Formats: sequence, structure tokens, C-alpha cells
Amino acid sequence: MQYKNSEKASATIFLQNIPPEAQVTTIEYEGPRFAIYTKNPRFFIENSFIISDIVSSLKKRIVIRADKSIRKSEEETKEIILQKLPKDVSVDRFIFDKVLGEVFIELKDIHKIYSTIGEQNQEIFSLTGWRPKFRKTSSIKSEGLEQVYYALQSDWSNRERILKEVGEYIFRPKIYDKIEVVVSFLGGFQEVGRSCVYVKTNESNILIDCGINPGAKNSIEAYPRLDLYLKNLDELDAIIISHAHLDHCGFLPVLFKYGYEGPVYCSEPTLYLMSLLLSDFIKVSSSESATQLFDTKDLREMIQHCIPLPYGSVTDISPDTKLILNNAGHILGSASVHLHFGEGVYNLVYTGDFKFEKTQLLEAAQYSFPRVETLIVESTYGSKEDIMPPREEVEKYFVNAINHTLSKGGKVLIPVPAVGRAQEIMLVLDRYLRAKEIVECPVFIEGMITDATAIHFTFPDYLSSELRSSIIEQGINPFESEYFTIINKPDEREEVLQQGPAIIMATSGMLEGGASIKYLEALAGDERNKVLFVSYQISGTLGRRVLDGAKQISIIDDEGKIKIIDLKCEVDQVVGFSGHSDYNQIMKFISKLRPKLKNVIVNHGEKNKTINISNNIKKLFHIPAEAPSCLDAMKLV
Ligand SMILES: [Zn+2]
Repeated sequence: MQYKNSEKASATIFLQNIPPEAQVTTIEYEGPRFAIYTKNPRFFIENSFIISDIVSSLKKRIVIRADKSIRKSEEETKEIILQKLPKDVSVDRFIFDKVLGEVFIELKDIHKIYSTIGEQNQEIFSLTGWRPKFRKTSSIKSEGLEQVYYALQSDWSNRERILKEVGEYIFRPKIYDKIEVVVSFLGGFQEVGRSCVYVKTNESNILIDCGINPGAKNSIEAYPRLDLYLKNLDELDAIIISHAHLDHCGFLPVLFKYGYEGPVYCSEPTLYLMSLLLSDFIKVSSSESATQLFDTKDLREMIQHCIPLPYGSVTDISPDTKLILNNAGHILGSASVHLHFGEGVYNLVYTGDFKFEKTQLLEAAQYSFPRVETLIVESTYGSKEDIMPPREEVEKYFVNAINHTLSKGGKVLIPVPAVGRAQEIMLVLDRYLRAKEIVECPVFIEGMITDATAIHFTFPDYLSSELRSSIIEQGINPFESEYFTIINKPDEREEVLQQGPAIIMATSGMLEGGASIKYLEALAGDERNKVLFVSYQISGTLGRRVLDGAKQISIIDDEGKIKIIDLKCEVDQVVGFSGHSDYNQIMKFISKLRPKLKNVIVNHGEKNKTINISNNIKKLFHIPAEAPSCLDAMKLV
């Protein structure tokens, strides 16, 4: 739909002030930003102040694109890029995004061009009309990356149409002068799982997160309660995804299956990790049950509607609402969601899952917001007993637990979730092996871990500062450490098992399927071996039964028969590698927010933990706080 008097009309008038040598041909919506098309990209590179002038006058995000008529062919572009790069740098692959006029250039040795990347970008853009984006590759192709690349390259005219329509809708004229905001709690309140918050203003309808609860017994408890609040998906302006874990995004493709056609905002790594986890979810559920929640077509539709945003950028997502994503320190690309309503009327921050402490993998969650009135805060570790030991103690316990087994000639099995914890554990293992503080041995890695890890070093800017500079400045990538051996096929397991002392990392983290079960089956009978858990074991899972001291377990073998296994190996758990804030970190985060909050809403925790956090916020900080349950709602302003 075209709106009269829209912001685009005023932007077009404004552009008349730009000198004719800029050769601006048109201005288009590109989702939430304006794309200014030019036949003279060099003019904007040489006169960058003009772009800042436009941004400060329009108060909108803009991007300069080359007019399609001057874009070089893909073949010519490849040749020009290869000529521009140093001779000792070889490109693995080019991926062209016709809609945005961008080209991903995948290369292994990104550190060799790191110092000149800014110049390379400008030079290639002005010579070819394509905006380059350099990406580091690994020897292993990640399913998450491939899913997204495929969706970006297929049906590109559909994506072009989506971005234009999203822009038209965001910048439609406002109807009301006054702003009122109501939040409804559709999932993840007094519980962990199916996170979902519905934010409604006079003008806009926004959903934050849209997850599933994999442990739920029935659909009423498994999915967000959109049924009672939002029958018509057309009403939604936007969906925002805080991070890629399925309890925050697992229901999203279902919305596309039922006709949602609007944008999804998330960070760039979240788009790729989410695509990996959701496509794995399709594979697992198609092998287990006849009814599937969604299929690859819905997933592709979802990817085409995703609009990645960098941390810290202010983006209009509807006529009265702006969005800012900030680092949440939980997993790669995880973000807190800051919504700004009206011009300075009200601010809501939703933490999502967050870690308020620096780890080897990520920086601590960002806590400085220009203003926040209402905070929605997670409380996974919200009881007073949920205090994690200091990091050095955690690592020491971990190293001792491993050395104890290796020195007896045993193997250590670490069942681990593929995204987040696996990469943190890889970094810790590499550091201690390198320092010779862990008995020298091979580390075998199997399952989706490698896929997910490849996405980590594709986006080094989202990693901790030390890790980022190690990868892109020094060319040292600890994820590709010489100690790690990737197991690609199940028939390679035999070799692993025949070796002497070794560390094996395998998914799933709670022994619910995947390679970790296969290794457990092979290692359980020898008392020299050890299963070492590094993540929370939910009750009802096999991991929890093993941790609680079961002497025998039953598993389903490849022929579908039940098999009884005696557990003679040791079992241990390291507490403290969590990607969530503990009790103290949650309270410290709240105490740091300035100016003082008007109220706090506690979510994402078992009932007693949400209530404990809200009581303590009231008591210690004298801020009104609540722990609502699902289907409750609250008027903020
Ligand atoms: Zn999470």
C-alpha cells in the first residue's frame, strides 16, 4: 500500500538539495531504512559528510546503494575483487545478494586483509557497484549459513517486495497523538520455555520472542498463548527475536505457515544460528513424529522476512516505536530488546536471557540505556541459592575432573548443547591444553557443534574483544585448535573409542538423543571413564537420571529396541559455566540501571524464582516489581 504524505515523500523533497553530481536516481524503502540509489558511488565515499547531514536531518537510517544499471556483472565483479586482494589471499566463495547489492566474500585468511578492509570496501563498491562483506570461512560448511544463503539467493524479487512493503507500513502516518502501551504475557512467565511478550500501543502491535517449551506435555503449555490475544497475524507490525534458542524462536516459522507477512528483527548471528537450530528441529521432529509443526518452506519464508540489525542502532519499526538491540552476553548474537515509544514518552527494556559477566566467548551484557522506565528481566537462576562459584574455581574444578580420569587411562564424555556452552568449553579446553595444565590428549567433537562453531567465527565482531582480535587481527583461531578433531560420520566413532585417553564433546547436552547417547553406551561399562556435565539437566531427561546416580539406564537402539545399560563409569557435574546471570548478577544488573526504574516485571524462571527476584527488588531497591503469570496483562503508560 502507498500512503500519501509518507516520510518517503518528505525524504524525496529533501534529496533535491543534494548536488547533481551525486547522480541520485531514486530513493526506496529497504525495510526500516531508506536506500538512496546513485550512479556515482564514489561521490558519496569522497563526500561522506553528506550522508551524515542526511541522517541528522531525516533522523532515519539510510544506506547508499549503487543504481542497478551501473552494477557490474557477477563475473566481472569477481575478477575485479580478485585483482584488488593481495596475491596470498585466496577466496573460497562469492555469494551475491541481488536485493541489497551486496556480495559476501568468504576467505580463510581474513587477518591478512584486516588492516585494509575499510579501503577495500570503498574501492570495491565504487568499482563494481556491489558492497563487499568479508567473511571468514572454515573447512566445514555450516547448515545454518547455507540455509540463509539459499533463501537470500532464491526468489529474490519476493524479498525486494517484502522490504518495500515493510518500509511503507513502518512510515505510515500516525493516527493518535497520545501514546498508551499495554504488555500481555503470552509465554515464559512463572515458567521457562515458550518466551513471548505482546506489546500493544495505539498505533502498533509488536511481539518479542516466540518460543516453544520442548518439555511441555500438551500444546496449551507448549506454545505461546497467541490464541487468546492475536487471531489476526496481519495486525502485527513486527516480531523481535532476542536470541536463537528454541525456547525463544521455535514457534516463529509457524506464524509464517499461518500467513504472517511482516518483518522479523534480530541480530545477524541470530538469523544464522536460528536457521541452523530450526532446520535441525525439522529433521529431528520428522524422524520422530508424523505431525510436523512447520517445514522447510515455512523456514525459508521466515528467513526472507528477517531484517538483521547491528547492536546499538536506533531503528523505526512502526510509526510510534523505535527498537535498539544490545549485547546480552548469553550466546552469540543474543540481544536485549529496548523499545522506545513516542518521542521520549516511554522506554521498555526486555533483557532476554542475559549474562552479566564477561566470559571467554562473549562480553558481559550491556547495561547502559539512555532511559528505561520498565524492565522485563529473566530469572533462570533467581533463588538465593543460585550463586555460582568464581570463574577460576569453576575452571579449576573442571580441569581437575578431567585430569583425574585421563591419568587413570579413561575417557571423558562431555555432553554439551551445540550453541553457546560448546564454544565456551572449547575455548577453555584449548587454553588449558596449550598451557599443559590438562594431560595432553585429543579432543573429539561430534554433532551440530562444528556447524554452530563455524557461525561463531563468521561473526567475530560479536565475540569477546580478545577472541575477536585473535581471530581477525592475528589469524589465530582457537576454535580450529590442533587439539580438536572433528568427527563427521558415525562410522568414525569406532576409531575414537579404540584410542586411549581422550575428551569427547557431543550433543545433546541432556543425553536426549544425538551422538552423546552413542558414546555413553560405549563408555558406560568401564569405571575408568567419566560423564562430565557442564549444563543444567532438566528433570525428566536421561541426563538428569544419570546425574542423580542411576545404576542402570534404558535406551532405544538403532533397531528401535529397548536396551538396558549398566552405568559403571563416573558421573560428575561442573556448575558455573552457565550463559545466564546468577542471583547476584541479576541484582547487580538492576542496581546499575539509571535513572531509577518505574517498575520491574520478572519472567523466564520457575515460579518460586520469579517471585523471589520480584520480592527482593521491592525490598532492596524500593522499586515496584511483579512476577505475573501467563495470560496476565499490564498497562505501562
Ligand atoms: Zn537462551
